Amino acid sequence: MPEETQAKGLRTPIRFLKGVGEARAELLSRMDIHTVGDLLLHLPHRYEDRSSFTAMRDLQPGMAVSIRGKVVACGRSTPKFGKPFFEAVLGDGSALVSCRWFGAGYIDDAISMGMELIAHGKVTNIRGTLVMTHPEFEVDKGEDAGSLHLNRIVPVYGLTDKLPQRTVRKLLYLAVEEFGGMIRESIPSDILETHGLTGIQDAVREIHFPTSMELAMRARYRLVFEEFLCVQIVLARNKSAIERITKGHQYAGGKGLKRQFVESLGFELTTAQQRCIDEISEDMHAEVPMHRLLQGDVGSGKTVVAACALLDAIDGGAQAAIMAPTEVLAQQHFKIFSQFLTRLGVESAILTGELSAAQRRNAQSGLKSGRIKLVVGTHALIYDKVQFETLGLIVIDEQHKFGVEQRGLLYDKGAHPDVLVMTATPIPRTMGMTIYGDLDVSTINELPRNRQEIVTRVVGRDQLEEAYAYMGRQVEKGRQCYMVYPLVEESDKLDLKSATVMFEELAAGIFKNVRMGLLHGQLDNREKNAVMKAFKEHELDILVSTTVIEVGIDVPNATVMLIENAERFGLAQLHQLRGRVGRGAHKSYCILQGDPKSAEAWQRLKIMEETQDGFRIAEEDLKIRGMGNLLGKEQSGFPTFKFGDPIADAEILVAARKEAFAVVQRDPDAVEPEYQRLYRRAEIAFNRLAAYAQVG
Ligand code: ADP
Ligand code: MG
Repeated sequence: MPEETQAKGLRTPIRFLKGVGEARAELLSRMDIHTVGDLLLHLPHRYEDRSSFTAMRDLQPGMAVSIRGKVVACGRSTPKFGKPFFEAVLGDGSALVSCRWFGAGYIDDAISMGMELIAHGKVTNIRGTLVMTHPEFEVDKGEDAGSLHLNRIVPVYGLTDKLPQRTVRKLLYLAVEEFGGMIRESIPSDILETHGLTGIQDAVREIHFPTSMELAMRARYRLVFEEFLCVQIVLARNKSAIERITKGHQYAGGKGLKRQFVESLGFELTTAQQRCIDEISEDMHAEVPMHRLLQGDVGSGKTVVAACALLDAIDGGAQAAIMAPTEVLAQQHFKIFSQFLTRLGVESAILTGELSAAQRRNAQSGLKSGRIKLVVGTHALIYDKVQFETLGLIVIDEQHKFGVEQRGLLYDKGAHPDVLVMTATPIPRTMGMTIYGDLDVSTINELPRNRQEIVTRVVGRDQLEEAYAYMGRQVEKGRQCYMVYPLVEESDKLDLKSATVMFEELAAGIFKNVRMGLLHGQLDNREKNAVMKAFKEHELDILVSTTVIEVGIDVPNATVMLIENAERFGLAQLHQLRGRVGRGAHKSYCILQGDPKSAEAWQRLKIMEETQDGFRIAEEDLKIRGMGNLLGKEQSGFPTFKFGDPIADAEILVAARKEAFAVVQRDPDAVEPEYQRLYRRAEIAFNRLAAYAQVG
């Protein structure tokens, strides 16, 4: 064993592994494999049971199988119709199978007459010939093959054509042999035992070269469990740290601002709103800072709940801040709060990027001296040099637009203020355990009673005229409408054009006598605000827009949401958009004009007709688009997992979370030797989720 490998263990650069060298190291690095540890965690994406091959005479179209045979004919073939391909005809004595590759110039050199080949793929019947198109294949050279590539359950890795299966498999075999014994266990033995977890060395061996499928699955379980455990330990430690802080302020008994505010509303709170208000109030009056998530579907009335918390803080003699993701939303909040507070002689301010220098200075000095009790803001709240006298509470609206780091910056502004984050993004429970795993959760699980179902219809392009006519009639009745156009080919310019073009076309045509406004991301904030304000004050009847209106806008008089090319949106996004109507007493409609290319895409839109349940919609969306898309890029501060899937592996996540919290409760200060390795690994896993390679 070279000296480097001994000293560095799993951190040994991959080029020092037997059989690698510079060229292969370069290819491996493209797959993000730089060390032996990285390689060991390059998991197979499936297995092939090669303990048996299917005889060719038994093949039926549709079967996915492994076959083995001799190349009896091969070469390029250029059919009269269709693309040229390379063909290798395999025979095993019982029948023949034609293996075909289109393009793939590297194949020509790899396969020649008389070779023994192993191929794995799906069998089709093309004009009486059994065909495998683009099978995975290996040349069976008969040398070392015995134990590694044949007569066993074989791992299949995702890879580039430059690195054949055999090579990667062999490298892994060597890595497991030489380095497998250096992997150190980080999970204490009692936890291994309680959860029936495979030890780490066995797990790594079995995940690559399983003795049975069952053991392979158990190995995976172990790796997933550990991955979840690590992330949950970090969350549990954050939470435990907060729970041991005494906050810098305590609220005095007030004058009942909250009660007055609730009485001034033109409606009764829902039971769920009341419950959330109580949960928040209890937190705020505790000695440790609140750290709570308020979640509720669009239109469930989160703003009122947040307002109660803000008023409670102010009433108790502290200052309060609410941060919104957009200028428009900040304005909307400010209007609600400032009207109410001004009547009571309480000063509030808005702080956004749009203020004049004098306004900004005034807001800043008022916050510093404590004269201003409430501030509503956007990101400017974090980035400006805003200081408070006594900041008691921060509310963050629509959390998914803020990264974790931004959240952190805001916490630093007070002496451990109470924090309430609000979100309307319905995320499956186990995903929430990861993203908001260090927060307590209050859920508004009911909509106000006056809510009517939003009638949703998916229509074709040919029904658009009808839809426009319908909107015209709604406008005559005094209602307002939204028309939304998607991004086209991810280009803001085109996006802008389609909304703009439609705006001009309609304003000159069918909606000649209707007051129309146009809103899109290329307008500067002042223009955007002016349009939104006009729409809110019913100086406009129809608002043509891109998705900038997606979050939070509240115009109860709007009753129609028309979305064109709806197939270009994610379902969760459609749900958010639809939530802009149905906010008042009038019956509301959502018209989704779609031009889906596939039955599946059509089915997807139909889900919108079937349900208004944000959680169900999110789950469907998730199945179709994956977690990354649901959360959007903004979510990049959150962990994406290497092994586990919070949805599919929900049970493992729940078990790991419970264990993590128990561990942290036993050893909150990280002093017990038995947890040292786990804690260290957890820190790294939380940041990079590639723990073994790092801590070795
Ligand atoms: P979201 O949870 O989507 O942020 P909002 O707080 O904007 O929802 O509330 C949506 C609308 O419902 C607002 O017009 C609000 O005034 C109204 N509203 C809130 N609570 C109730 C209630 N209990 N009964 C009737 N209307 C309500
Ligand atoms: Mg809202």
